[in-house]
Amino acid sequence: MTQTKQPTEILLNLDTMLPELEAVYKDIHAHPELSMQERRTAGIAANHLKTNGFEVTAGIGKTGVVGILRNGDGPTVMLRADMDALPIKEATGLPYASTVTATGPDGKTTPVAHSCGHDMHVACLIGATALFCKSRDSWHGTLMAVFQPGEETAQGAQAMIDDNLLKRFPKPDVVLGQHVMSVPSGRLDWRTGVVSSAADSLQIRIFGRGAHGSMPEASIDPVVMAASIVLRLQTIVSREVAPADSAVVTIGVLQAGTKENVIPDEAIIKLNVRTSDEGVRKHVLAAIERIVNAEAAAAGAPKPPEITRLGHYSLVTNDVDATEKVVDAFRQNFPDGSVEPAKPTMASEDSGCFGEGWHVPAVYWLFGERRS
Ligand code: ZN
Repeated sequence: MTQTKQPTEILLNLDTMLPELEAVYKDIHAHPELSMQERRTAGIAANHLKTNGFEVTAGIGKTGVVGILRNGDGPTVMLRADMDALPIKEATGLPYASTVTATGPDGKTTPVAHSCGHDMHVACLIGATALFCKSRDSWHGTLMAVFQPGEETAQGAQAMIDDNLLKRFPKPDVVLGQHVMSVPSGRLDWRTGVVSSAADSLQIRIFGRGAHGSMPEASIDPVVMAASIVLRLQTIVSREVAPADSAVVTIGVLQAGTKENVIPDEAIIKLNVRTSDEGVRKHVLAAIERIVNAEAAAAGAPKPPEITRLGHYSLVTNDVDATEKVVDAFRQNFPDGSVEPAKPTMASEDSGCFGEGWHVPAVYWLFGERRS
């Protein structure tokens, strides 16, 4: 028997709002802002929240915005969207493509584009808050909209928490978040448990002794040391992590020297680790440290390598009961076959910080954006 669907009244106004939301989306898409610089985007979000009767607090964790809509007794639900774009040049050729440049944290000018879809997240949350405002008679409780900065650099959620978010606003009963993904639009992917991986970025500075290239015996060559480290690090995933577990160790930066006939003093390696289990994560990070130190010792390095943490994303874990409630609601409102269980991804997110910080259940899902 086919279940009769009863879409919630809250969605009834969506069709009439779509042209305005599309304009909001295109405007934000054409004006992307780098992580922790999202002033214009935050201003747009704050204005929409005010128009819709939310109490608005801006400038939390630099550019974060919180809107509260109290509508009688009932649960408090937090909805979260991230606002930042990436230092990438847009090559889509779209009429509303970004031509924006900005100054990155390194002081260099860079093109900026919404390549990760956070423009869509902002437009969606603006739309959701407007829908809840328009249909106050069909729900009760408190809605908390959080527009966070700096997801791409793993800074923003923590910056809002460090700015006393958890004490300044009501503790939600559940935290909901979402991300677009490159699958046909209309699809909603969900899972319970681990949704996205933990990520750890490290910089390793290896110390050698420089010399002229014609006198290798006078050197302790950091290039050879770095090459050996890069190869040996590959054995962590292939030889130390069980086949049923998963991990990624990617070395994205390998830098040393300036001239072909000079052996440099030092080398830099930057790497990124993705894991889905805290035990595996600890093992991989410890193995990196062990291998790096051992290779430096084997080469007779004048001092041990310097390992610096560049960034960290925690695991995003979906609460089982809360996820089932959300999925039931999706199934009531969206066509059969569009709400599907998904595998975990090796993408990373800082959305989990909010549920973890408040010690409340969180649900994070993915939705499609492709035309076909
Ligand atoms: Zn993203």
